[in-house]
Amino acid sequence: MAKMTTEDYIIREDKYGAHNYHPLPVVLARGEGVHVWDVEGKHYYDFLSAYSAVNQGHCHPKIIAALNEQAAKLTLTSRAFYNDVLGEYEEYITRYFGYDKVLPMNTGAEGDETAIKLCRKWGYLKKGIPQNQAKIIVCENNFHGRTTTIVSFSSDPEAKRDFGPYTPGFVTIPYNDLQALEEIASDPTVAGFLVEPIQGEAGVYVPDEGYLKGAYDICRKNNVLFIADEIQTGIARTGKLLAVDHEGVRPDVLILGKALSGGVFPVSAVLADDDIMLCIKPGEHGSTFGGNPLGGKVAIAALEVVKEERLADRAEVLGKIFRDELNRIDSDMIGLVRGKGLLNAVVIKPKNGKEAWDVCVAMKDNGLIAKPTHNDIIRFAPPLVISEEEVMECVGIIAKTLKEFD
Ligand code: PLP
Repeated sequence: MAKMTTEDYIIREDKYGAHNYHPLPVVLARGEGVHVWDVEGKHYYDFLSAYSAVNQGHCHPKIIAALNEQAAKLTLTSRAFYNDVLGEYEEYITRYFGYDKVLPMNTGAEGDETAIKLCRKWGYLKKGIPQNQAKIIVCENNFHGRTTTIVSFSSDPEAKRDFGPYTPGFVTIPYNDLQALEEIASDPTVAGFLVEPIQGEAGVYVPDEGYLKGAYDICRKNNVLFIADEIQTGIARTGKLLAVDHEGVRPDVLILGKALSGGVFPVSAVLADDDIMLCIKPGEHGSTFGGNPLGGKVAIAALEVVKEERLADRAEVLGKIFRDELNRIDSDMIGLVRGKGLLNAVVIKPKNGKEAWDVCVAMKDNGLIAKPTHNDIIRFAPPLVISEEEVMECVGIIAKTLKEFD
C-alpha cells in the first residue's frame, strides 16, 4: 500500500471526524522538546505548545519515564478505593503551590466547573447566600472551556450561539476594570470572581499592572472568593510559576490544567484551603478518572521538571528577548506585540487581503507552526525549554515570512 501523504491524513480526518476544529494543514507525527516533525519528515518549531500544555517540551524523558513506569503498575482505580499514589501527589502539589487541599480532575473545563461548584457551595454554607441566588462575576472575552455552563457566560458568539438555554448565576464585567468590579462586589449574593490573569484565548490580553492585586483586595473587602484560572498562564508560562505571582496575589481558589502534566496526560486541579475545600462532601462532586495514579505520577514529574530546569526564569528572560526581537522586525503587518514571559501575541494588520491565517500557513511552510486566535492575532508560545539560539532562529523565520508578504 502506498504511504499516506499529508493530504490523505487530512481527508480522512475530515471524513470521519466532527468538524469542530479548523486545523492548520500539517499532520504531526513526532515531537521532542520544541521540535515536531510531520508525516513526511519535515521539521517545525512548535510555537503553540498545545495551547501551553507542553511547557516542559514534547515527550520530556523524565515525564515519559514516570508515565511508563506507572502505566505498567496501576492506571486507574476510581475513587471508590484508595490508591498508593494519590496521597503522594496530593501532598506534593499542595506543598508546591501552598494550599491545604487539592481536588483532582482531568481537563481544564472540568477544573473550572469544579471551582464554580465549590464557590457556590461556599457561598451558601459560609457566606450565607440564600439558596439558588449565588452569583459569580466573570470578565468579558473570557475563555474557561466548552461545557454548557461555561459557554453560558462566554461573550464569544461562536462559542455560545445555538447552545442555550444558558446557565444563570453569572455577571459579566469588562476585563481590566477595577471600578466595574468594585461596583458589583458588594452585592451580598456575589460568591466569587473568576478571572484569567492574562486572557490567553482572547488574544493574550495582559491587564494593567496592579489589576490583579486590586481585584484581589476588592474581593477580600467584600468576602468574595478570588478564583484564578491559571490553566493557560500557570506552570511557568508567563515568567513566574503562576501569573498571579507577578503581583504577589494568592488566589482563594486556583485552577490548573494543561502543563500540570506537561501535555502527557489530561490532569487538572483545583487548589484551596480547608475552609473552602471542605465545603464539598463525599458524593457531591467527582470524576471516574480524576485522581488516577497515572496522572498523579505524571503531574509530580511534570512539576519537578519545572523546578529542576528553572522554566519560569527561562520564560522570563527569553520572553523579553523574543518581544524585543519581534518589535525590531520591519514589517507593516505587525500591528502590536504584547505578552508576558513566553506567552506572546502579535496583532496582524491585513495586507493585500492576506490575514493572520495566511501568515500562519506561510510560517508553516518555513518551518514554524503557530495558530491564529480570532482573525487578526497570532499567539506565540513555544515550549519553555527553547534555547536563546532557537528563539533567534525562530524570529528569523517569522521575519522572513512577513517579508514574503511585501
Ligand atoms: N481555561 C483557560 C484559561 C484555558 O485557556 C482553557 C483552554 O484553552 C481552558 C480553561 C479549558 O481547558 P480544556 O481545553 O483542557 O478543557
